[in-house]
Amino acid sequence: MKILCVNAGSSSLKFQAYEMPSEKVLISGVFERIGIDGKYSMKINGEKIKKDASLTTHEDAVRILARELISNGIVKDLNEIEAVGHRVVHGGEKYSDSVILDEEVLKTIEELSDLAPLHNPANLIGIRAFMKEIPNAIEVGCFDTAFHQSLLEDKFLYAVPREWYEKYGVRKYGFHGMSHKYVSSRACELLNKNDANIIVCHLGNGGSLSAVSNGKCIDTTMGFTPNAGIIMGSRSGDIDYSMIPYIMNKTGKSITEVDTILNKQSGMLAISGVSSDFRDIEEKLRLNDHYALLSHDMFVSSVLGYLAKYYVELGHVDAICFTAGVGENSDYVRKLIVEKLSPFGIKLDENLNEITRFGKEGIITTSDSLIPCFVIPTNEEVMIARDTYELTN
Ligand code: AMP
Repeated sequence: MKILCVNAGSSSLKFQAYEMPSEKVLISGVFERIGIDGKYSMKINGEKIKKDASLTTHEDAVRILARELISNGIVKDLNEIEAVGHRVVHGGEKYSDSVILDEEVLKTIEELSDLAPLHNPANLIGIRAFMKEIPNAIEVGCFDTAFHQSLLEDKFLYAVPREWYEKYGVRKYGFHGMSHKYVSSRACELLNKNDANIIVCHLGNGGSLSAVSNGKCIDTTMGFTPNAGIIMGSRSGDIDYSMIPYIMNKTGKSITEVDTILNKQSGMLAISGVSSDFRDIEEKLRLNDHYALLSHDMFVSSVLGYLAKYYVELGHVDAICFTAGVGENSDYVRKLIVEKLSPFGIKLDENLNEITRFGKEGIITTSDSLIPCFVIPTNEEVMIARDTYELTN
């Protein structure tokens, strides 16, 4: 059975076609600059192809994708694509799992746009484009928030008036759910233990940690929005909210301007003064740059705070996993974090840490470490493919 996985943004559309259940990737790629000018790239059998195209709407991208699927021999007829799984950012409290998309679900996703104004509308545009171009396929929605719906009240409520939650939906939702689900389930496979307690550190440009017990998420660092939790590339993570009215008074900036600064000009970018990209900051570290060092100290401290919290909340931890751009590739950041975990009896294997990068999966702790730490490259797409396959069968 052939399945397409789609992640539609406001001006981009990423795709991956799978043969299921073997999980063989048939083609993958991305359409970019939709509504601006348009270009796309694809990877088939290890070969990369780049093309320009006029992409006025997402429908243009889907039409070109359909053509490419046929001309590259992925399918003879579009009806061979039996299902399309879409990444949808916000499923609110309504969806604790992936669902088959019908008009009612689409209406709910639209209503939830209040909670994810940048993402849900873009996801919907993508879904509708596929519904139009490949009408016989079953469409499935896979929500970034769904995996965290297992959080109990004491973890998802904020200490604010209850009506904020009851009337306006103010609560912790958590994000990166498909990644946390994939990595925690892969860790269970590596441990050969289905009911393991796992801490997942998804450290990318955006970052979040989750505590997973027996396949269920019990706590996570992102909150009502993806801005909460650990320090990120350009997002502040947790702050004292009172600085917002204070800075507004001092600078005359509007709430929207301050919100943008906290989202796009804060985090590692603000502390290092260099970049939101850890690679750029690591260059400066080699020169012993004070602010580059400080940014890493603060980042590691923010991760450790949650690691220690989740260790206590889980009671016992079977594995700690690193994933996403920084977690998969920066042996330097992992070393800083794991060495600080020595009070828990965790011991880094420096050699394994150095060689487990760039898409490699593996253990990075010594055999006598009380808790193993793994690097597990995330694979949100295959998680979407699995959920889509399961639901359509
Ligand atoms: P993601 O959001 O998961 O795509 O992660 C992207 C981020 O990963 C980039 O902004 C970098 O900060 C980080 N990253 C990617 N490759 C490396 C690397 N080799 N070393 C350090 N950080 C990296």
